Amino acid sequence: MTVKGFIVYFKLYYACSSTGKSGGLRIRRLEVRILSGVLVDEKIYMNKAEDEKWMREALKEAENSFSNEEVPVGAVVVKNGAIIGRGANRKETLKDPTAHAEIIAITAAANSIGDWRLDGSVLYSTLEPCLMCAGAVVQARISRVVYGASDEKFGAFGSVIDVRNKDWNWKFEVASGILKEESANLLRKFFKKRRDG
Ligand code: ZN
Repeated sequence: MTVKGFIVYFKLYYACSSTGKSGGLRIRRLEVRILSGVLVDEKIYMNKAEDEKWMREALKEAENSFSNEEVPVGAVVVKNGAIIGRGANRKETLKDPTAHAEIIAITAAANSIGDWRLDGSVLYSTLEPCLMCAGAVVQARISRVVYGASDEKFGAFGSVIDVRNKDWNWKFEVASGILKEESANLLRKFFKKRRDG
């Protein structure tokens, strides 16, 4: 869906009143935002500039993996406008099949806030998460996943399987293709270097 021109959206914040026995709903805050420009998909690209900013941080982690001779995948977990966990793929270094960038970033995020519940957080990953990492997203109650390049071999958000079609007790949003060229180029460079010896 392509939407051109100005889009106005209203965000309503509700919270249960902490006073009184009835505990009824009341409006805490009304926010009106005016966005301009071309939106390819307003839901997915609502925060494109912000998504790119955080994806660049995930890319730094992917470069970190590259320099450690690991398949270059990086991830960060962002909550309330700050990175609370970072991860670079460490599968070879740790000889651990679960040491994917996303798992490391999620574990770091949970450690940093002292809670396994990461609701309200966004996971940025340079590559489409695999089934294991998608499972961790559900387990951690992450609210949104943003990834760059698709993974035709292991991707669990449509490439091989699509975990969004399952009836989880936790719903999350997914956006894809953010800085996908940068992510894919880094992967191509890594595999070319490995082939060429
Ligand atoms: Zn994974």
